[in-house]
Amino acid sequence: MSQENKNINLERMAEEDYKIKFSLREKEERYYKEKTKEFGLKTIDRFVRYVPNPSKYMRMNITFAHRDLELIADAIANNKPWAVISGLNPSGPLHLGHKAVFDELLWMQENGAEIFIPITNDESYVVGKTKSLAESRRIAYESVIPSIIAMGFNAEKTHIFVDSDYLDIYNIAMDVSKKITLNKIFKVFGLSESEEGENPGTMFYRGAVQLAQILLPQYEEFGGPKPTLVPVGIDQHPYILLSRDVAERKGFIPPAELVLKFLWGLDGKGKMSASREDSMIFLTDEPNSVIKKLKRAYTGGSVLGDYQKEHGGIPEICPIGALRTYHFELDNRINEQCSSGELLCGQCKKDTIEQVVEYLIDHQRKLPEARKRIDEFLLRKPIKSIL
Ligand code: SF4
Repeated sequence: MSQENKNINLERMAEEDYKIKFSLREKEERYYKEKTKEFGLKTIDRFVRYVPNPSKYMRMNITFAHRDLELIADAIANNKPWAVISGLNPSGPLHLGHKAVFDELLWMQENGAEIFIPITNDESYVVGKTKSLAESRRIAYESVIPSIIAMGFNAEKTHIFVDSDYLDIYNIAMDVSKKITLNKIFKVFGLSESEEGENPGTMFYRGAVQLAQILLPQYEEFGGPKPTLVPVGIDQHPYILLSRDVAERKGFIPPAELVLKFLWGLDGKGKMSASREDSMIFLTDEPNSVIKKLKRAYTGGSVLGDYQKEHGGIPEICPIGALRTYHFELDNRINEQCSSGELLCGQCKKDTIEQVVEYLIDHQRKLPEARKRIDEFLLRKPIKSIL
């Protein structure tokens, strides 16, 4: 084949590749728009215009939708108490997807929120993400909690608990479960009684414990009803609906919801997920492993540098662009440079490797000190009002 024909073929391949990437971008934009509409959520833009110092994630539309954020804006403006609940599964070390949520939590703490972080090790065990409850506890105390502390939370206003060690959460689960109706569960999860899938017992158990975690800050031991906010991925929306229903039945304030976009996995196959190890950067990763993962990562660019220079990259579907924008840049500079063709993937990956490795070295340096401070953050308050 002549060089000219080879070039034509390569150009065609690059065009086809971009068609797929553009359709992925459209699909993602459509997905978030449709879900926002379907769930009756509001977009974040109005909040960003009226709140004096919105978070970086809000300004950049990474936190893109909400319900009842007005209650939180009012609490911030009038110095009223408010709380945030954000739990996670301890099935492995934290990764950069988790860090995005914790960055948003830090903004909330700076704006007066009391932060509750349930570590749902019972769920890790029940759904089979860890082999035993003991393993999920070990991961929680050795890895997850120190990483959270190392991110810079204020111990006086941060309450972390590991479900299986904070037994009061099960008393609350018992209390809220009296207010959950089977009808509501079927409705919010879009199920029918004949549906096959997750064991209904497991679903009910997870639902009751999640609701207990979400409603905990409104029990009298924590000062009674108050505005609360739950940052979630869009797939967690049914739990918020359920918690709002139960909150009303208990005379609490229905929790507000703040929805963040998923961080794209490095393999380009959807959101970062612990089940695909190469799709994510763990906060405990060694520099060599980070370099390997980032060099192999999928991008929104072209295999042909000249083609990318001419047509620009597609940062909206690029995990590398997302990593930099979420964690290391203050604005959309990378997206603009990428879309214009000014920045190419080789240089971009090189810069990303430097930024990620520098961050991880600093984070890992803080872990030994953070491990010594776990007690300062653990929630131990007994819940006597329901006994
Ligand atoms: Fe992604 Fe960077 Fe390449 Fe743009 S230049 S597609 S952001 S790796």
